Amino acid sequence: MIPMVDLKLQYQNLKPDFDKAIADVLKNTQFILGPNVQEFEKEAAELLGVKHALSCASGTDALHLALLAAGIGPGDEVITSTFTFIATAEAIRYVGATPVFVDIDPKTFNLDPHLIEHAINKNTKALLPVHIFGQPADMKNIMALADKHNLKVIEDCAQSFDAKINDQTTGSIGLAGCHSFFPSKNLGCFGDGGMVTTNDDEIAEQIRIYRNHGSKVRYHHDVIGYNSRLDELQACILRVKLQHIKQFNQQRYAAAQKYSAAIKDIVTPPFEDKLGNHVYHQYTLLSPKRDLIMKALQDKQIACAIYYPIPLHRQNVFADEYKDISLPVSEQVASECMSLPIFPEISDEQIQLITSTIRSIF
Ligand SMILES: *Cc1c(COP(=O)(O)O)cnc(C)c1O
Repeated sequence: MIPMVDLKLQYQNLKPDFDKAIADVLKNTQFILGPNVQEFEKEAAELLGVKHALSCASGTDALHLALLAAGIGPGDEVITSTFTFIATAEAIRYVGATPVFVDIDPKTFNLDPHLIEHAINKNTKALLPVHIFGQPADMKNIMALADKHNLKVIEDCAQSFDAKINDQTTGSIGLAGCHSFFPSKNLGCFGDGGMVTTNDDEIAEQIRIYRNHGSKVRYHHDVIGYNSRLDELQACILRVKLQHIKQFNQQRYAAAQKYSAAIKDIVTPPFEDKLGNHVYHQYTLLSPKRDLIMKALQDKQIACAIYYPIPLHRQNVFADEYKDISLPVSEQVASECMSLPIFPEISDEQIQLITSTIRSIF
């Protein structure tokens, strides 16, 4: 049995560190907005090279809080990718704005800047690129468009913790970056967690207020806020893992290189260019024989998955509203994409078994 991600191995490898960190929190009993949250935010900001890191309850909340803090609301349009997890568009709806879905680049699976420009109109207030699968979006051209049309840029970094493009970390380029610590993400905790990064002092202050019941001073409430905080147990776990994140991402990268070397002649492997460093949240390939490949892997108890089978404009929740648009690249990619198991501890033997199983059907 090979799972998509083996969280047990990472837990076993770091167990003494987790045990000590958790025991300290239990002894201290300051469970909300305590010292581990403070230290984690400092350490994460430093590692990512960004002025502020504000933790919150999930990646979905990070997107919601960032859009609120950026002043996006009813009547505003936010341009985003149709080839992403639903949370990206949900957050746009939470603030009362309208998601405008744009098609993707067929190689990187990220928003295509040329198509963004066509979708901009007088109601457009923000661009919300997603660094899908850990592959950084084309931030140079996205930021140029944002400057030209005076738009705010919120990055969805839920799958791209510490990925870089043009030597800048994702989440440090736009007005805000939104991270998820869902257990299976590159940096994951033992429950739900999220974080907004920003270099903007005002955005940071707004998020601090919104995540804590609209309050700057205890029991003084200035706006309707939310209860969206990372707790101390999650923060102490993230502090342990943060020390290893560069190595974890390198191990993912190395595993991806081994996959690609073994199967690039029979499938379309993930695209890499010189500008960015892909952190391989997922290893996602394209093949017209996807269903056959998946069957062969499943027969050998090897996990595999389709991220994502249905682009957002074709999801039931949006289908009526967006029935007149067609985004052919996403639709084509959704029909041929599949992801292989990837995690830092994946072994050469596992990769060998997976790639030879795939080769066996060609
Ligand atoms: C996981 C994910 C989210 C949401 O994060 P949660 O922590 O699960 O709320 C948002 N966007 C993308 C692209 C994701 O992969």
